[in-house]
Amino acid sequence: MLKINNLHVQLEEEDKQILKGVNLEVEPGKVHAIMGPNGSGKSTLSYVLAGRPGYEVTEGTAHLGDVDLLDIEPEERAAAGLFLAFQYPVEIPGVGNMTFLRTAVNAQRKARGEVEMSAAEFLKVIREKAKTLKIDADMLKRPVNVGFSGGEKKRNEILQMAMLEPKMCILDETDSGLDVDAMKLVSEGVNALRDEGRGFLVITHYQRLLDHIKPDVVHIMADGRIIKTGGPELALEVENNGYADILSEVV
Ligand code: ADP
Ligand code: MG
Ligand code: MG
Repeated sequence: MLKINNLHVQLEEEDKQILKGVNLEVEPGKVHAIMGPNGSGKSTLSYVLAGRPGYEVTEGTAHLGDVDLLDIEPEERAAAGLFLAFQYPVEIPGVGNMTFLRTAVNAQRKARGEVEMSAAEFLKVIREKAKTLKIDADMLKRPVNVGFSGGEKKRNEILQMAMLEPKMCILDETDSGLDVDAMKLVSEGVNALRDEGRGFLVITHYQRLLDHIKPDVVHIMADGRIIKTGGPELALEVENNGYADILSEVV
């Protein structure tokens, strides 16, 4: 599914190396979590996979199945089945949420050589999915994320994810700023999408999200590298002892 090999990334603007050889393989059907101290490069990894400008890959590779992600445009990566939910979802004034989603879904279908969803079919599907995420009809009509609360933005991202049916979902600190109820809704939304053909990479600062989205594999990232990999117990270790013990093991 997602295979990252020896990825080195630096900032384009200044000569600062952020990722220093990341290796990671997420198998279909699996949920991998990445935890790690602030500034360790977790968001940079998701930005680089999404194709956000400002970063330069100096070494290494990233593939989604057979697709060389680093070789194609951001929108082609999405069409190839990569979806990223960011810590700060963007607002799109003037574009209705539903219109945006329908355009995105059909653009992706077109890129995959599939037939477009009819208006009626789209409406049926989006209403169903919105209901489970407790997103009301009003939120579907409003401009994308404009004036949405933090929790509403995150739920809306999960709705986008549910509509696009990606192969590989990356969630970067989707739990930050969420109250307990919103986190539960978001987690349930993610769990509903768990499927043997789909991989997840859940980036989180805190263990609590992983109480709801149970990971198969947990990685600890520090200073631009994955320094430890284990099972769900690794997240509990971090919760109880912080990162200090793990960091000192490695140095
Ligand atoms: P994390 O998500 O693990 O907290 P980030 O990927 O956001 O870490 O950041 C990793 C390091 O790279 C930090 O030291 C951060 O300050 C730096 N960094 C990332 N992007 C930029 C940028 N555009 N300009 C300057 N520094 C950056
Ligand atoms: Mg951070
Ligand atoms: Mg981050």
